Amino acid sequence: MLDVIKILPENVANQIAAGEVIQRPASAVKELMENALDAGATQIDLVVKDAGKAMIMVSDNGCGMSEADAQRCFERHATSKISRAEDLFALHTMGFRGEALASIAAIAQVELKTRRPEDEVGVKVVNEGGAIKEQVPTPMAAGTSFTVKNLFFNVPARRNFLKSSVAEMRHVVEEFTRVSLVNPEIGFTLVSDGKELYHLYPGNLKQRILGLFGNGYDEKLLPVHQDTDRVRINGYIVKAEYAKKTRGEQYFFVNKRYVKHPYLHHAIENAFMEMIPKESFPGYFLNIEVDPADIDVNIHPTKTEVSFLDVKLVYAILHAAVRKAIGQHNLSPLIDFDEPSNLNIDFGEVVKSSNPIVQPSIPIDPSYNPFRQQRESSSREPMPRSFGGFDPFAKKPVPGDWRQLYGERTDLPSETDPVASMATRDGEGAVVFNEPAPSPHYIQLNQSYIVTTMKSGLLVIDQHLAHYRILYEKFLREMEHAEVQSQQELFPQPFTLNVNDASLLREVMPELQQVGFVLEQVNPTTFVINGTPADLGEANPVALLETMLDHFKTHHADVQRDRKLGIAKTMAAQLAVKAKTPLHEKEMQNLADQLFGCAVAEVAPDGKKIYTLITLDSLTEQLNNG
Ligand code: ADP
Ligand code: MG
Repeated sequence: MLDVIKILPENVANQIAAGEVIQRPASAVKELMENALDAGATQIDLVVKDAGKAMIMVSDNGCGMSEADAQRCFERHATSKISRAEDLFALHTMGFRGEALASIAAIAQVELKTRRPEDEVGVKVVNEGGAIKEQVPTPMAAGTSFTVKNLFFNVPARRNFLKSSVAEMRHVVEEFTRVSLVNPEIGFTLVSDGKELYHLYPGNLKQRILGLFGNGYDEKLLPVHQDTDRVRINGYIVKAEYAKKTRGEQYFFVNKRYVKHPYLHHAIENAFMEMIPKESFPGYFLNIEVDPADIDVNIHPTKTEVSFLDVKLVYAILHAAVRKAIGQHNLSPLIDFDEPSNLNIDFGEVVKSSNPIVQPSIPIDPSYNPFRQQRESSSREPMPRSFGGFDPFAKKPVPGDWRQLYGERTDLPSETDPVASMATRDGEGAVVFNEPAPSPHYIQLNQSYIVTTMKSGLLVIDQHLAHYRILYEKFLREMEHAEVQSQQELFPQPFTLNVNDASLLREVMPELQQVGFVLEQVNPTTFVINGTPADLGEANPVALLETMLDHFKTHHADVQRDRKLGIAKTMAAQLAVKAKTPLHEKEMQNLADQLFGCAVAEVAPDGKKIYTLITLDSLTEQLNNG
């Protein structure tokens, strides 16, 4: 038999390889723009005709190429970016495979013009279907310009496979968006069929988002930043109230490379979970920076996938960062964090942390009076009654401190102490006279709402929702830190479930244990409750377990984290003080104090608004116009 194995001619091999790298005009746009970035350009201009099917031109003011490189760059595995396999693990450039230009040239007519700053004249190279057709000197500004005409001209099957121009243009805009979004310090323009679609000036990330998605985003964004030894996260999320019904702006970058990462996406969705309505999608623009050695970007030719060495760590940090951003926002509408109003936060700045985002913190009381403290603690009344899990003297926050955050002075002595109310000593020992301030009162409306006055108006809190939120965060905290309290049942209670419920219960038993349930399975369908959460109070543990099982049947929760949230949520909802329950003033005060110590004080875990502030302004308006 004859030998049958042949080596494919270079141009055929390139055409085949091209199929992997260049699927559509947008792929060429991406590769050319990334090359311009790697060349250190500060201005990149993209021009397309007929969605890139007829022509794509990318011009940059980067480092340019020598005459020899201008020829060589079209060869397969021609790259200036790596020379050893180890270089792959310390990659700071977008490209590294040396395949893109070879692929593009194999399936299109390419004209390259390039000049290095140090050269007097540039060079023009024309390459068609992988063969160099022309090479002449050309006068030009320093930089590089690639013009790609008639993509797939020699691969009709692929050309026919392209979608409508509208669809292809969507892909082009998407690539342009991804590249320009994560490089806000670089200027970009996009011209399509003679019309300028984008003109993006160099700036910070926020300005870039506004430039791409419209000035309406100005008020929609929340800054996110988290800095740890291994991972740095910076960017913005879109406030929950602006979540979209369609999967909108979701941009993840890892070391400035756009990636799709369903697992990490889940971390964000999860952090938002209780804030946005079902069937809505959170928006985000986040860059995760890690040591290049901690990731592998080489697992997919078009490189939108990335694998982390420790993805669980990244998940946890990302989740926390988004939670923190949401938590800060929920206090900020009423509080001035001394943040500069122009919010010029971009990746670079935040990384240097010269412009940190101020966390809500309890201001230090300059007129601290130890006697007053003593007096207060000795006269502290015991709680008239306790309802499930509500610890009035929890570490956080100090009662009344949230009022300071809201612009109220609580560091002033009360009217009832004549000496203290007259004067306190300042740092130098001089006596300072204070105006007595009335201590805040709490009243209950319809046995369901807590009403209290504030400097800026009237605060109305839904007591059930507030307690729901407090307990929810408490349970989550306990599960996270495994600091659960369980009380032993004096008379262990057996109960029986149907087969399905029994197997479901067995499955979630580890998480239930984390909140304080001590369960034992005695036969396939019968369980015994040996211990219950310390917060249970009067509630019936069997009924509570059944409610939780119902929750899991309707919200299928595979991920362990979702289960924890589900348990915390159902328990909190069941145990929270109900509407139409009379409360003492002290209880109301403690509820308010604890609510504003929560990470998210504004909405309950089911997304309902917990409180509203009726401002003086709105009152004046209503009364004057009435
Ligand atoms: P890679 O980017 O993976 O190295 P490419 O095929 O995209 O491979 O590019 C090959 C080489 O051509 C690059 O390594 C670089 O040296 C050079 N090159 C491509 N585009 C430009 C550009 N816009 N400016 C300067 N050099 C470029
Ligand atoms: Mg490249």
